[in-house]
Amino acid sequence: MPAPQYKRILLKLSGEVLMGGQDYGIDPGFVAEMAKEVKAAKETGLEICLVIGGGNIFRGMAGAAQGMDRAQADYMGMLATVMNALAMQSALEQIGVPTRVQSAIEMDKVCEPVIRRRAERHLEKGRVVIFAAGVGAPYFTTDSGAALRAAEMKCDALLKGTSVDGVYDSDPKTNADAKRFDTVTYDRVLADNLKVMDASAVALCRDNDIPIVVFSIRDEGNLARVLGGAGVQTIVK
Ligand code: UDP
Repeated sequence: MPAPQYKRILLKLSGEVLMGGQDYGIDPGFVAEMAKEVKAAKETGLEICLVIGGGNIFRGMAGAAQGMDRAQADYMGMLATVMNALAMQSALEQIGVPTRVQSAIEMDKVCEPVIRRRAERHLEKGRVVIFAAGVGAPYFTTDSGAALRAAEMKCDALLKGTSVDGVYDSDPKTNADAKRFDTVTYDRVLADNLKVMDASAVALCRDNDIPIVVFSIRDEGNLARVLGGAGVQTIVK
């Protein structure tokens, strides 16, 4: 892998990427694949913070659509992100990558609370830090959690690994002529409501000058290529 252009990144993975080929839940084989990608990136000397969504298990909006109280459903979604974080920690440690999970909802039997200075120390010591439970409040998503932790931890970029290889001017699944941007401004993303991350996350990155790199995590080795500047991606800046 070529030398990375960043020193510290926050990698956001949606919960769906942990499902692999399943319709629901966690596919341990796929989590192991993701862990290998993270390990390869870390071996170049990069400091890595991780945020993992919970959509493979539970989304607050889906619960609310079925009649649940939205805030209550969102707390369930946040708990789902903790399960994903623990699965990823396990996969990383199995391949020798020391990892700490910090949750925005305190859960001292299973992980640490979010303490910025402690997270700094973990990164200095070469550990991967997984931030779980988003921002710790309902009506937010893990995209906002990722933007918040990227700002707090002074990350050079927020990498968003999804199932699409970047940001398009229209939906590439329904429009064969959809055009992928190499770069696009935060303001264009917000004005045109382009599908990148939710608006609060994009605004937080814009206000703190954190580039958002959108790429496909489903293509093997793509994290390495993107970090080396040779991958297919869209940079929002
Ligand atoms: N969630 C929340 N506050 C947060 C982060 C997450 O309420 O700060 C809840 C929300 O219900 C969300 C669910 O947790 O739908 C799972 O997170 P998300 O939808 O961001 O997961 P992803 O789409 O990335 O898998």
